[in-house]
Amino acid sequence: MNPRVSILRCKGYGNGEVYDCVKALTDLLGGIGEFVKRGERILVKPNLLIGKRPEAAVTTHPSVVKAVIRLVREAGATPIVGDSPGVGSASRVAEKCGIMDVCKDSGTEFVELKTPVLVENPGGHTFKRLEVAREALAFDGIINLPKLKTHTQMFLTMGVKNIFGCVPGKLKAQLHLTAGVDTDCFAGMLLDLYLFLRPRLTVTDAVVAMEGNGPGSGDPRRLGLVFASRDAVAMDLIITEVLGARREHSPVLKRASEMGLEGAEKEGVVVVGEEIRGVRVSGFRFPPLVSTNFTANLPYFIDRRIRRAFTSRPHITDLRCNCCESCVDICPAGVMEKNEKINIDYDRCIRCFCCQEICPEGAISVKQGWLKSVLDFYSFRHRS
Ligand code: SF4
Ligand code: SF4
Repeated sequence: MNPRVSILRCKGYGNGEVYDCVKALTDLLGGIGEFVKRGERILVKPNLLIGKRPEAAVTTHPSVVKAVIRLVREAGATPIVGDSPGVGSASRVAEKCGIMDVCKDSGTEFVELKTPVLVENPGGHTFKRLEVAREALAFDGIINLPKLKTHTQMFLTMGVKNIFGCVPGKLKAQLHLTAGVDTDCFAGMLLDLYLFLRPRLTVTDAVVAMEGNGPGSGDPRRLGLVFASRDAVAMDLIITEVLGARREHSPVLKRASEMGLEGAEKEGVVVVGEEIRGVRVSGFRFPPLVSTNFTANLPYFIDRRIRRAFTSRPHITDLRCNCCESCVDICPAGVMEKNEKINIDYDRCIRCFCCQEICPEGAISVKQGWLKSVLDFYSFRHRS
């Protein structure tokens, strides 16, 4: 059967309103009983990137988590909420963003996805072995609750990317090292992980999304939308179109198409609820398209200054930095160090942007290589 994606408007985060919208979204897909059976234990997996208030739009809104907990219970199953942020504990993040209150008030268990286990993935396209959290494997099924945000390396973070939270903490950064600077390889790993864990349902919180310098410190943008699907690739494709971008902008969707995944082809996706043209968003601020391996095919003898001039890099705004060293801790290449301020060895930086993703102060942004900016400017003028 063709992948189905449901879209509905949801004006705000009032508890009753969100529950009604999420229930209606799942009803459009056949009802929650299509995804959850009586007696099952279901992992409810929000985005718990870093501990910020819900208004910052960094984490999935607590009322979306609350609505899904209620739906899972109504289906006779047991919901358990869990995730693994890049730095620190998930419960601390959940406390700050209001999700722990939801768990306490509803008597829902919370689990840290923290114990790495190596699993065979013979069907994997890019990775034949994966390291995931043992805790995430202990459930009958997963309901995936991403927050719609911009993402420096992956363009947007939606359904497929949110499953990366099932890889324990610092291992995430190490996987960036394994995948190197090759964004396509990293996208392939995300898709292998998604296909391996295969959440039964994905519900995206885009009531207030994030634009600009996402995913940790962009600007909240009210879209008033929620999306759901059994197929997160199809849902990501439809969201990308709603935002006015193309599939080719997203490394995950581009790779999904190369892998022949059905959800990556719009012709095969059925949209129910609101029509795409009725909810299209204008002027959404995407992150700059980073060029991480722009010079990878150039001869090695080319001077490193030329490489730098072409390649995007993380840039620290010292005035915003409070020297918490979270970036130093997470940097998989070990190229950040604190002296009087935080310094980066750009020659060894692999451009994974983990530091930018987790900086709690929004002190790290992406700076494009100056020569690349100049070329982009002239090619844009030439086109227009
Ligand atoms: S750049 Fe951000 S993460 Fe790094 S030390 Fe400064 S505030 Fe902390
Ligand atoms: S400095 Fe930032 S972008 Fe460079 S390797 Fe370290 S975490 Fe990745």
